[in-house]
Amino acid sequence: MSEATGIFGALRRLLSPRLESCLVCGRSARLGASLPLLCESCAARVPRIARPRCPICGRAHGCPDCLRPEAALRAFVMNRSAVVYDAVMRAWIAEYKYGARERFAEPFSILLEQTYRRMQLELSKPFAESGPFAFPRSVFDSSRRSSAWSADWITWVPVSAERLEERGFNQAELLGRRLAGRLRLPAGELLARSVHTGKQSFKTRAQRLQNLDGAFCLAPNLDPRFFKQWDSIGSGKDPRGSFPIRILLIDDIYTTGTTAAVCASVLKTLEIGFGRPVLVYSLTLARS
Ligand SMILES: [Zn+2]
Ligand SMILES: [Zn+2]
Repeated sequence: MSEATGIFGALRRLLSPRLESCLVCGRSARLGASLPLLCESCAARVPRIARPRCPICGRAHGCPDCLRPEAALRAFVMNRSAVVYDAVMRAWIAEYKYGARERFAEPFSILLEQTYRRMQLELSKPFAESGPFAFPRSVFDSSRRSSAWSADWITWVPVSAERLEERGFNQAELLGRRLAGRLRLPAGELLARSVHTGKQSFKTRAQRLQNLDGAFCLAPNLDPRFFKQWDSIGSGKDPRGSFPIRILLIDDIYTTGTTAAVCASVLKTLEIGFGRPVLVYSLTLARS
C-alpha cells in the first residue's frame, strides 16, 4: 500500500491545506480564494472593469465609438463587460475557445455574475435616478412593483455550425448557461446563425457591419419555456402584461458592438409576437 492511499496519506490530506494545480500557471497552490480554479497570483492579473467610463458600452476608458451618430440607433440598451480585453485575457479566452479548455467557464462565469450584480445596482431605481449616468426612462419600468432590475431571460450569441464542429462547444452559450444557473434565471437559445460569416477578427469595421447584416435570425425552434414565461405573466387583467421583456445577451468579447447590435435588433422582432417591448442588455466577458 503506498503512502498516498494509506491511512497516513489520508490523515495528511485531512490535516494539510488542499493544493491543486492552477488552471492558468499550473503551479501547485491553494486555489479559488478569489476565482475558482485560479491561484491568487493569476487571479490578481484579471483586469476587472470596476467603474465603466462609457455608460453605453461599458468601456473602461474614453469611448469614441458611442459618440458616432449611428451608435444612438443601436438596438441594445447597454453593454457591460467584466474585464478589459488585454494580453492576459486574450490568452485565456483563446485557450478557452480554441484550446477547448472549457474549465475556464468556471472563473469566467463568476466574473460575469459579479458584473451582472453591478448592473443590477446601476439599473435599480434609487441608484439609477441619482447615479452618474442618465439612462432613458424606458429602461426603468415604473409599473414593476420591485425597483430592482433583473433580466427575465438569458440568451447568447450563436456560433455557426462550422465553428461548433471545430470547437465542440459554443463559448458564449456555456458562459450564459453557467451564469443562468448561478442567478437561477431562465435561459435558452433564441438566436441562430443564418450564414457562415467567417472570422470577425480579420475584418475591418465596415466589413464587419456589412458582413453581419442578416447573419442572425430567430432560432427556428424557439424554446417553448420562453413563450410560457410570458403566458404565465398573463395578458388581459394582469397589469404586468405591459412589462417589457428584458433579455440578457451573453458573448465573450465586445469589440465594436456590431454583433450585440445586430443580435438585439433580431431579438426586438419578438415584440411583434408578444405585443410588448423587448429590451436587450448585453453582458460580455471582455471589452476591447
Ligand atoms: Zn496560477
Ligand atoms: Zn462606449
